[in-house]
Amino acid sequence: MNIKNYINGEFVNPVSNNWLDNYNPSNGEVYSQIPNSSTEDVAKAYQSAAEALPKWSNSTLEERSRILIKISELLESNLERFAMAESKDNGKPLSLAKQIDIPRAASNFRFFGNAITQFASESHESVGLNAVNFTLRQPIGVVGCISPWNLPLYLFTWKIAPAIAAGNCVVAKPSEVTPMTAYLLGEILNEAGLPKGVLNIVHGLGTTTGQAIIEHPNIKAISFTGGTETGAHIARVAAPKFKKLSLELGGKNPNIIFADCDYENMLATTVRSSFANQGQICLCGSRIFVEEAIFEKFKKDFVQKVKQLQVGHPSDENTNIGALVSKSHLEKVENYVKIAEDDGGKILCGGLEVTIEGFENGYYMQPTIIEITTNDCRINQEEVFGPVVTIMSFKTDKEALQLANNVKYGLSATLWTNNLNRTMQFSQQLQTGIVWVNTWMLRDLRTPFGGAKASGVGREGGFEALRFFTEAKNVCIKYN
Ligand code: NDP
Repeated sequence: MNIKNYINGEFVNPVSNNWLDNYNPSNGEVYSQIPNSSTEDVAKAYQSAAEALPKWSNSTLEERSRILIKISELLESNLERFAMAESKDNGKPLSLAKQIDIPRAASNFRFFGNAITQFASESHESVGLNAVNFTLRQPIGVVGCISPWNLPLYLFTWKIAPAIAAGNCVVAKPSEVTPMTAYLLGEILNEAGLPKGVLNIVHGLGTTTGQAIIEHPNIKAISFTGGTETGAHIARVAAPKFKKLSLELGGKNPNIIFADCDYENMLATTVRSSFANQGQICLCGSRIFVEEAIFEKFKKDFVQKVKQLQVGHPSDENTNIGALVSKSHLEKVENYVKIAEDDGGKILCGGLEVTIEGFENGYYMQPTIIEITTNDCRINQEEVFGPVVTIMSFKTDKEALQLANNVKYGLSATLWTNNLNRTMQFSQQLQTGIVWVNTWMLRDLRTPFGGAKASGVGREGGFEALRFFTEAKNVCIKYN
């Protein structure tokens, strides 16, 4: 089958009629073709967005809200179909797509459909000067949204929903590795009555289609989620053109475990925070630091639990760990296991590819735990983004904090303790955009989301996203 671009409310072939193969990670087979879109396709998408802009940016908040909530409802009523498509395209367990990915995509539209009706701007009375200031929050215009492959529809809609809620028109590109649910979304947009041109979806390679979006002179803002290197490249291209930028980038998140924590809850959650979605979530806690007093016990219990995880075909309901997203990614992750061993790491479990009967060419790998003795090794400093975690012990709070912060990334951290003072000290001193205490990936969509250091610039979520997607204009009125 052929996936098509969605431009001006219609499904169209790429101008060049060039196509790329799209693989099913569970069996390594090509199962669809996607447009290899060029600058011309992006130009058409931009044109359609620019034409839709005057009307959409002046639409009432009620109308935008109604359409976004309708999209959300249609996603919910198509949950099964979207979850199956996501699982097939990405390799993630179908159960995960049903419980997390698609419901969250629906929530993104519902949340921003509601949030836009509550979004207000400030006013400042200049007392003694006979003047009053108010802030206009106007749509930016045509904006670009570029998203990665790990949570395809979830992250795609996390950008698109606030962008259109705020009155912008969008040119969006999903990852070329996982284009399917973004393609299917087009049908729902039409059914929900989103006016033509408000959202345009172009498929293709990052280096050509994505590049055309970030270079386009009239696309005024770029919201990007992906790798840190790509983020740096986008910043280099977009900054001299004075585009507004939101960059959500890589992570190497610490999971800090103290002996005074609720042990069973910590253990179960740590299995999830290590290996959910094959470890391919930017928020996964891939560096586990454990207080010395419970290190040996944790090591034994953690290895035992992880060995019970079932690696299998994504649609098998007993599967905990599905396929990795692509062959090249599997090879990259395996290579990191070798690097860790060369650096003195000890593999406590996993480390190998898995062959699933009937799906021998799929990209499966065992969940892997590596014991290390120094945080300075490559496996602890570079993002692997797969089913691989390290464990290491620490003695004091000070040492734990140093280990956690001694990395170039700063996306999220998880802390397990029941000590209030420690909770506050770590919350203040961890150099990350998100700190979870005694939980992981509990998300309230009103909260600011994003990273510090090499994990990004800017915040998504709640009103932060609506602020990003609007231009603030100060109006000062003098009166007598
Ligand atoms: P990439 O950076 O490779 O790609 C992300 C997106 O950017 C894709 O759509 C890609 O297209 C596109 N792209 C690539 N090159 C360019 C370019 N020159 N110009 C414009 N667009 C481009 O990341 P991955 O898809 O491999 O995703 C994994 C990364 O995403 C990890 O580092 C992970 O940590 C990060 N991530 C961060 C999150 C956060 O919230 N901070 C959340 C989830 C993931 P194509 O796929 O076609 O190459």
